[in-house]
Amino acid sequence: MDRGVLNFFAGPTALPWPVIARMRGDIVDFQGTGMGVMEISHRAPEIEFLLADTAARVRRVLGLPADWEVLLLQGGGSLQFSMIPMNFSAPGDPVDYVDTGYWACKSIAEPQRMGRDVAVVASSADTSYRHVPPVSSIRPRRRARYLHLVTNNTVEGTQFRELPRTGVPLIADMSSDLMTDVFDASASDMVYAHAQKNIGIAGVTLVVIRRSMLEGIAARPSELPAILDYRTHAQHGSNYHTPPTFAIYVTWLMLDWIEGEIGGLAALGTLNRRKAATLYDFLDGTPFYRCLAERGSRSITNVTFALPSAQLHGQFLEEAGKAGFTGLAGHRSTGGCRASLFNGVTQEAVGRLVDFMDAFARQHRSQGGSFDE
Ligand code: PMP
Repeated sequence: MDRGVLNFFAGPTALPWPVIARMRGDIVDFQGTGMGVMEISHRAPEIEFLLADTAARVRRVLGLPADWEVLLLQGGGSLQFSMIPMNFSAPGDPVDYVDTGYWACKSIAEPQRMGRDVAVVASSADTSYRHVPPVSSIRPRRRARYLHLVTNNTVEGTQFRELPRTGVPLIADMSSDLMTDVFDASASDMVYAHAQKNIGIAGVTLVVIRRSMLEGIAARPSELPAILDYRTHAQHGSNYHTPPTFAIYVTWLMLDWIEGEIGGLAALGTLNRRKAATLYDFLDGTPFYRCLAERGSRSITNVTFALPSAQLHGQFLEEAGKAGFTGLAGHRSTGGCRASLFNGVTQEAVGRLVDFMDAFARQHRSQGGSFDE
């Protein structure tokens, strides 16, 4: 379906067309109820089924062992930054973090605010976050309650290829790469992702967590509100209070698309890696553009690059906009450009972006010169 725009936003972003096509009918009448899916009570059987079936689909698609819980929460990735220290540590407890950029820094600020003993055990700040620290250099304190890292750095365009296995429980923010490739449950103890990049729309945040982590939540500190306690949501099947039913419904459709149309995460990973390779191969072959992430750390979902001058940068975004490409400006904290290639972005869209970038480079090559960033 050509809607005249090719969407490369960093989230919210494009949804696969088959998902949108299904939504159109369900907005008017969901499963013969005569009501739109967002008009039905969260205690009605259709929605209780939707919650349970979404969790079941997450379990199947990720290949989660039986001792993991699936939680559908609200508050985005940002609320997880607070809930994690609140649930798994008390004031003064050691909690360890890896600093890989903008979102990692936000995750570190919360336990600091709460008086935890925070250690940044690895950081790539000294290279402006152009790479992620080698996994072998990540050594948390033995007493740390957990080790937190961001697997894919949406802003900088870097990604871990593997996760550290240290003996300390690993909690991973996978907001920008969960459900984009195969998932190894043995590598972590809790993973979370807001939905608005790869698994639906803003409003629902997926948390998958080993039951032993829930059991390990210390006698609840009296100041931990029930709604911020992971166990509350596990006990109530993610229906403790009114859940974001429409957002969960879209995730339910996305999971069906991944399972039914794409054939699961291995197949999806092949598609996503091909999209990324198309763009990186082009960038590597064209001196006009410069990739911002170091080769071994490049993200498959967020490709960051720069043009030779501020003037060309502005011109590029303007002409791209006129040609129907949207969302290509880099994050306000880093500048440059960024093309986000989440699940809803097609190979064809990436091909058209490369064609446009190639034509732009040919046209403006003479204005090239040295990079002024
Ligand atoms: N973590 C990562 C990796 C992100 O990319 C973002 C936002 N893009 C967040 C956390 C914050 O998520 P939210 O806006 O849902 O709070």
